[in-house]
Amino acid sequence: MKRDYAVIGLGRFGGSICKELSSEGMQVLAIDADEDKINEYKNIASHAVIADSTDEATLKDLGIKNIDHVIVAIGDNIQASILTTVVLTDLGVQSITVKAQNDYHEKILNRIGAHQVVHPERDMGIRIAHNIISNNILDYLELSDDHSIVEVKAGAKMGGNSLVQLDIRAEYGCNVVAIKREGDINVSPAADEVIKEEDILIVIGADKDISRFEKHLVIDR
Ligand code: ATP
Repeated sequence: MKRDYAVIGLGRFGGSICKELSSEGMQVLAIDADEDKINEYKNIASHAVIADSTDEATLKDLGIKNIDHVIVAIGDNIQASILTTVVLTDLGVQSITVKAQNDYHEKILNRIGAHQVVHPERDMGIRIAHNIISNNILDYLELSDDHSIVEVKAGAKMGGNSLVQLDIRAEYGCNVVAIKREGDINVSPAADEVIKEEDILIVIGADKDISRFEKHLVIDR
């Protein structure tokens, strides 16, 4: 289904969202207060408009409330980001995603009704940190404050053992939800599935449990 999007703020983050949505064939309204930015995006987005997004009348005139999903990607100017979010919630926009600059900003955005708050620098920092701890940790995705999913290469410690032999759930409190092998993905693998060294396991659990799992079974010391 084709959906309409608006991206407010065309810095590196908002700009890359705008480019990606446009290249996926979505209708994108790009909004920025800076004329140079709008000139840069006028041939990329479906519409590109110079506007101050803290101005309710302007957003109303742009028909923002009929847009399915609005992304607020104003970074440095926290006040403008908060005011814009308030205007969008007041206008009844159905789905609002806002980029937070810090934890305090995130808290306020959640309070004032942002539907999704993203923290790309912090999240990417966490993912890269896990990735550099071990070549076997391929990706790391935070699900909540204390739960995550990791994607790990099985490696020598796990290879040749079945899931029941490794007893990951009982030993470490986390679950192997899928195994990727040679381009295929096996979701909810059986307990007697034998792991190969090159397999990629997708593991879900509490951060403290995942951390024990990584220390004992993933990181080669
Ligand atoms: P990134 O790290 O993604 O580049 P950034 O933190 O550098 O983001 P900013 O420069 O703070 O991002 O803001 C991104 C864009 O938001 C800028 O192009 C700026 O012109 C625009 N912007 C800031 N305030 C407003 C506003 N009130 N209305 C519309 N656009 C705004």
